[in-house]
Amino acid sequence: VEKSAQQPKDGPVRKPSQPAVFVPVDRMPEIQEARLRLPVLAEEQVIMEAVRENPCIVLCGETGSGKTTQMPQFLYEAGYASGKGIIGITEPRRVAAVSMSQRVAMEMNLPTQVVSYQIRYEGNVTTDTKIKFMTDGVLLKEIQKDFLLQHYSVIIIDEAHERSVYTDILIGLLSRIVPLRNKKGLPMKLIIMSATLRVEDFTDNKKLFPSPPPVIKVDARQFPVSIHFNKRTPMEDYVGEIFHKTCKIHRMLPPGGILVFLTGQAEVHDVCRRLRKAFPFRRSTTDTGEEEETFKDTRRFKKDKQKQAVALPRIHLDNYSALPVDEGDEDRLAGVDDDECGYEGCELDLGEDEGDPDEKADPSIPLYVLPLYSLLAPEQQAKVFQASPAGTRLCVVATNVAETSLTIPGIKYVVDCGRVKKRYYDRVTGVSSFKVSWTSQASANQRAGRSGRTEPGHCYRLFSSAVFGDFSEFSEAEITRRPVEDLVLQMKDLNIDKVVNFPFPTAPSGEALMAAEQLLVSLGALEEPPRTGRVKDIERAKLSCPVTPLGRAMASFPVAPRFAKMLALGRQQDCLPYVIAVVASMTVREIFEDLERPAASEDESSKLSQNKARLMQMRRLWAGQGPSLLLGDLMVLLGAVGACEYAGCTPQFCETNGLRYKAMVEIRRLRGQLTNAVNAVCSEGGVFVDSKMAPPTESQVICLRQILLAGLGDHLARRIREEEILDPKWKNGYKTPLLDDPVFIHPSSALFKKPPEFVVYQEVMETTKMYMRVVSAVEPEWIPQLLPQYCHYGPPLETPAPWLCPSTGTIRSHCTSTFYRVAWPLPAVEK
Ligand code: ADP
Ligand code: MG
Repeated sequence: VEKSAQQPKDGPVRKPSQPAVFVPVDRMPEIQEARLRLPVLAEEQVIMEAVRENPCIVLCGETGSGKTTQMPQFLYEAGYASGKGIIGITEPRRVAAVSMSQRVAMEMNLPTQVVSYQIRYEGNVTTDTKIKFMTDGVLLKEIQKDFLLQHYSVIIIDEAHERSVYTDILIGLLSRIVPLRNKKGLPMKLIIMSATLRVEDFTDNKKLFPSPPPVIKVDARQFPVSIHFNKRTPMEDYVGEIFHKTCKIHRMLPPGGILVFLTGQAEVHDVCRRLRKAFPFRRSTTDTGEEEETFKDTRRFKKDKQKQAVALPRIHLDNYSALPVDEGDEDRLAGVDDDECGYEGCELDLGEDEGDPDEKADPSIPLYVLPLYSLLAPEQQAKVFQASPAGTRLCVVATNVAETSLTIPGIKYVVDCGRVKKRYYDRVTGVSSFKVSWTSQASANQRAGRSGRTEPGHCYRLFSSAVFGDFSEFSEAEITRRPVEDLVLQMKDLNIDKVVNFPFPTAPSGEALMAAEQLLVSLGALEEPPRTGRVKDIERAKLSCPVTPLGRAMASFPVAPRFAKMLALGRQQDCLPYVIAVVASMTVREIFEDLERPAASEDESSKLSQNKARLMQMRRLWAGQGPSLLLGDLMVLLGAVGACEYAGCTPQFCETNGLRYKAMVEIRRLRGQLTNAVNAVCSEGGVFVDSKMAPPTESQVICLRQILLAGLGDHLARRIREEEILDPKWKNGYKTPLLDDPVFIHPSSALFKKPPEFVVYQEVMETTKMYMRVVSAVEPEWIPQLLPQYCHYGPPLETPAPWLCPSTGTIRSHCTSTFYRVAWPLPAVEK
């Protein structure tokens, strides 16, 4: 459909129902030409007709067919951003929100003041914004402020097939908001976009949409992709196999970009490093990006997967983009029609990799190797879209980010490890773990499909066709395997009291909802259900507890409910700046560079171990001594944040002190954001939080530990006493209310050498052992005071809860200690 922006009469033939508005867009000729080749352009009329005639539509189209970049443009041209409302589009990933807004602005020849983005910490939205890309978490927060979303005329939910939790909730909420808006005479449209045809959860769901929305399918022009299965399936060193296969493709096969799928950042770096070593490519010295990358390129793939998981992130957060992204980012439910896969075997079959061929062979074309994963700095990510240096072959080594959200130009070969890293959460025990497991068939086909975009492609799978046959067809929605207390709180704040009745596309289990309500009640965010009355009524009331004023305040903080509780308590003893810093640093993941990474050479090895000793020393210094040490790992975090801010938060400081620069910048932003959030709900005057904090005083440290206990009360552990040890493995173990087996303090913890009797922890991560992450000491006598809901009074229980403490201990002498070590320099007094 040829379309001239200036002259509506040359545009598509309009039915009378079409709005008279046609907003011209002045595109560059080459952009217009490229657009016309996109499959969605051919369907523009059908799509826009359906949008006009229905409040909600579902648009399905293969990745790369132009949904994300073109749909906002269709709507803009049809006048959906010319009235009061603007066009909103949500992405489950920050990367996509930022890069797609830039791409669309470029295609439309409009400034970023008009086509903008908003992600958790940043954005370029102005009053002139007409098209707004955002993460799904951002829109969810906006619904809290204005349930009718009056600012928008259209909401596009992109990547709905990913089934991210926030996307699911948004669809549930919008299924109610859209009819409400239309009833009030403020028309609004909802467009759900999906890369797969598996949309029954949205369309055949009477609870969600009483009359099913129309589904418009866009046929992608897909060239055949030849699938090459391995005859055998490497179980151990698949990363090594990936490397060999990629080398082989580069040496033996005709030009064309290579896209490699791995499971996580460490693997990506490992393969990038080996490829760069095998096929050296002289980069210009002005390419500072590369130098910067070396700084970030410090993580190495570890043989010990278990250890790797220890360093991994935190639990659930408000915003999808703040979920454990690199890994969370990768759990997905991508699907695609099986028929897109070509035939098995052809002349480009490389055969099996046997042994170690000479990877050093110098091919005629240099290999231009780029990593791609969500934690990577945006400038580095952007490189994959830029033209690779002339005469080179592009090789992108990626995590799942490249599976659907981003389309990398010029890919002819895909190398797929067939695995995906997922976070698992046991809702009974609260134990989290990362596991690498087989991906789904849909996901593997989606990966294969990334190669056949511009010419016939080839996909090399590191597993046999028999193994593929055993893959599950689709992966499960994220909401079914993560805790949901943050979602329940947000929904209660929207006055959705009966969360069980919410029209989820896929509902979380009743068990998970119950656990969430219980936790929120114990945090004081929800009203307690009645204890007397008919059993049936009590049970029902337990699942519809309304939100308390404290709960409302907590819901306005963009952090998990346990942390929100701490913020709500933070004003006491002038602790707020520290609570904010503590919460921010627990929320941002991977603050410290990994000290356990294996060295590439002997030389490096000795350097590393020297460095490690120095960095460990630094961490001990941050942990302090005496009373501050009892704050444990959180004192180390506070010390790191304090020292880094005092030094001006520079990349140099971070590098010399083993801190991740990106994480530190994120903590700084989050501190600002949380300060504003706390001030906004506070009736008294706001606090000013200086980014440079003085170290907390002794009484502030005690207060902080109590605030931690109040927030993490259900994460309390008691050291197993000598007489309780039934198994030698229990030595140094801790007992928690929920687990039968003991949990342990990790050797890298500040409290490892002097394990206190009672601790609270951020989460239990199962690796080689069940380790508590981020541990602080608490005093037993605080427990009945601060956690009365967990304590038992009266006659002894038949089986006493293992950690109930009769508070017999005397107040410890640490309160009288006067020794306090300043862990970072005191800032100059600013008045
Ligand atoms: P979909 O959302 O259907 O997956 P997109 O709208 O993201 O498709 O992309 C459509 C096409 O636009 C892609 O096939 C790609 O060729 C092109 N494209 C998208 N983003 C970029 C970019 N940043 N640089 C160059 N081309 C891009
Ligand atoms: Mg898209």
